Amino acid sequence: MSETTEKLRCLIIGSGPAGYTAAIYAARADLKPVIYQGLEPGGQLTITTDVDNFPGYPEGVKGPEMMEDLKKQAKRFGTEVRFGIVTKVDFSSRPFKVEADDGKTVMAETVIIATGATAKWLGLESEITFRGMGVSACATCDGFFYRGQDVAIVGGGDTAAEEATYLAKLCKKVYMIHRRDALRASKAMQHKVLNTPNIEMVWNSVPEEVLGDNSGVNGVRVKNIQTGESRNLDVTGFFVAIGHSPNSEIFKDQVKMNELGYIETIPGSTKTSVDGVFACGDVQDHYYRQAVTAAGTGCMAAIEAERFLGS
Ligand code: NDP
Repeated sequence: MSETTEKLRCLIIGSGPAGYTAAIYAARADLKPVIYQGLEPGGQLTITTDVDNFPGYPEGVKGPEMMEDLKKQAKRFGTEVRFGIVTKVDFSSRPFKVEADDGKTVMAETVIIATGATAKWLGLESEITFRGMGVSACATCDGFFYRGQDVAIVGGGDTAAEEATYLAKLCKKVYMIHRRDALRASKAMQHKVLNTPNIEMVWNSVPEEVLGDNSGVNGVRVKNIQTGESRNLDVTGFFVAIGHSPNSEIFKDQVKMNELGYIETIPGSTKTSVDGVFACGDVQDHYYRQAVTAAGTGCMAAIEAERFLGS
């Protein structure tokens, strides 16, 4: 074995709530885990502001601060946290061969995949300018800050429909902007959206620019793609719900995935199609997508890895 090749009992890929929780449990079980943080150390929570729905923080917590806390907790029990990206995996035999961009090759007895998902954005410059200042990709996380206000949401799928109805309970008015004249969401969700009095559909339209100033968003300019006409909607919150992409590209052809690229796990567990490889958090969950559910499945993955090694 060369100098850059090392043997590990447990390798964790990804450093969101799932990865760090897996690390805390794996370290406490003496698996001496190593975690590769990945492209966005700390995961999606590092690009949000306040997290008010993670149990245990009665006053809420800043996303980046919570991730720092999780990292510290994982390190306290001996997790080695590495800044770097896993570039290649080979799960065809055990130990699994994993290569990282720090030049190291790891031979791991178990691998926990916690690479998360990335929200899709429209690609507007103003969307970046106001991210965290009125622009959000998670209504469940941020909707509360817009209670009693007018907001807009973009998208026509189940996520947008669900988030629009969630926002409608909190906000005065919700504009739902969709580029077609019909929703893609399931019939039941469509029915719900179209029968919620404070949701106004903005059909055949796309956002052109998010408007605002130093204090945040104060509107969005939308263009009707059939008539070519533009108009401003007065809103203080702008939610993008046009889908997520699981960060699973490097695991293609290694573990089973669904058609959207989410890693398949055996129901009620984090076991993937490869014995000894576990997946937790948003890379295997398009449904809940919450920090606390990601952390829960991270815990499950570590316990399953420990039992696998002990069996
Ligand atoms: P989807 O891919 O289903 O929908 C994305 C929506 O965003 C579509 O309406 C699409 O428009 C629109 N969109 C995409 N790109 C752009 C763009 N650049 N500009 C404007 N609009 C855009 O994603 P979801 O996240 O809604 O759902 C993902 C999967 O998860 C689906 O299979 C869904 O059914 C499932 N899901 C199920 C839930 C449930 O069962 N309760 C809850 C949430 C999700 P267009 O229609 O024109 O393509």
